[in-house]
Amino acid sequence: MQTKLVKIDCKNIKKDELKEAAEIIREGGLVAFPTETVYGLGADALSREAAKKIYEAKGRPSDNPLIVHICDFKELVSIAREVPAEAEQLAKAFWPGPLTMIVWKNDRVPYTTTGGMDTVAIRMPNHPVALALIRESGCLIAAPSANTSGKPSPTEASHVALDMDGKIPMILDGGAVGIGIESTIVDLTEDVPMILRPGYITKGMLEEVLGKEVKVDPGIIADASDKKPKAPGMKYKHYAPKADLVLVEGEEVAVIQKINALVLEKQKKGEKVGVIATDETKNRYQADYVVSIGARTDEDAIARHLYKILREFDAWEVDAIYSESFATPRIGQAIMNRLMKAAGHQVLTTEQERD
Ligand code: AMP
Ligand code: MG
Repeated sequence: MQTKLVKIDCKNIKKDELKEAAEIIREGGLVAFPTETVYGLGADALSREAAKKIYEAKGRPSDNPLIVHICDFKELVSIAREVPAEAEQLAKAFWPGPLTMIVWKNDRVPYTTTGGMDTVAIRMPNHPVALALIRESGCLIAAPSANTSGKPSPTEASHVALDMDGKIPMILDGGAVGIGIESTIVDLTEDVPMILRPGYITKGMLEEVLGKEVKVDPGIIADASDKKPKAPGMKYKHYAPKADLVLVEGEEVAVIQKINALVLEKQKKGEKVGVIATDETKNRYQADYVVSIGARTDEDAIARHLYKILREFDAWEVDAIYSESFATPRIGQAIMNRLMKAAGHQVLTTEQERD
C-alpha cells in the first residue's frame, strides 16, 4: 500500500484537504493525524473491522484498548452507559484538551475498540486538524498513538512515516505537536476518580475542578513497579528506544561525573554512547552524542522533546544512553513515568551503585 503524506497548514485548514482523509475513515480505513499530545492512528471507533486494522498496523496486543476521539460532548453521552457528573465538570474545564476520561460503555462501542473491556476511554483533542477530521468524517475516531507498538510515540509526521509507511493509506502532516506526551487518563467508573496515566493535566488540576480527592493508580508509581497497572497499556514495555537507557539521578555535579565515567567505560568497550542533558549541562559531557532536552526549568520543553530525542538516538544507532532525571514540579510525574518505562526502570542514584 502506498502511504500518502498530506501537509496541512493548521492555521488555514481547507475543508477540501480533509475530504479524502474523512472518506478513508468513513470507509473503514486508517488515517494518522496530529493531536496536541502526540500523533494518533485513527479509524472509525464504532466499526469492529476498522478498529481491528489499528491493532494490525501497530502490532498492538488486542487487549490494549483504544481512546475514542470526539469533537462534541454529546458524542460522549451517545456511547456512555451513564454520564458521571464528574465527566461534565472535567469536560467543561479541560476539553478540548489532553485529558482522557474512562466511563462505562454502551452497546454501540464494539469490544474490539475497548480491548474487551466494559468501559471506554474518551477524549476531545485540542488540535484543529484532529477536530476538523472528526467533524468532516462524521465518525467517532478511535486513535492510539501512531507508532509501532513499543516504540516512542510520534511527535512529528516523519516519525509516523518511519513506523507506518506502506501500512496505512494516509498521514496528515500538521507539523510538530505542542505537548509531546500522551493525555492524562482518569477513570471515572469508581467512587473516587483515579489517574491511570499521568500527563499534562495533573492530579492537583483535577482535584481543583472536582473539589474532591483524586487517586493515582499505585501500579504506575515508579517505585511500585511490582503492582499491576489498571490501564492495560501501561503494563507493556513502552516508549523504548533501541539502545539500553539508564537514568542517573542525584545532585547535578555528581550526576555529570557519574555519567561521564559510565560513558567512558562503555566507549572503552567500543560502544557508541548518547547522553540526554539539559541546556545548563550539555557542555559538560563527553560522549558520542550529547543532546539537550531543554532548559531544566522549562518542563513543557522537556515533555515536548523527549520522544523526538529517543527516536534520534535510534537513528544514530547508539548502544547505550544515559539520561539525567527530570522530576520537575508540575508534569514531572508524567515525564518520569515515560522515561522510567523507556529505561525499563533502570535508575542509578549517585549515592548508590547499580548492581
Ligand atoms: P494510546 O492511545 O496509545 O496512548 O493508548 C491508550 C491508553 O489508554 C492505553 O494505555 C490503554 O490501556 C488506555 N485505555 C484505553 N481504554 C481504556 C479503558 N477502558 N480502561 C483503562 N485504560 C484504557
Ligand atoms: Mg501509545
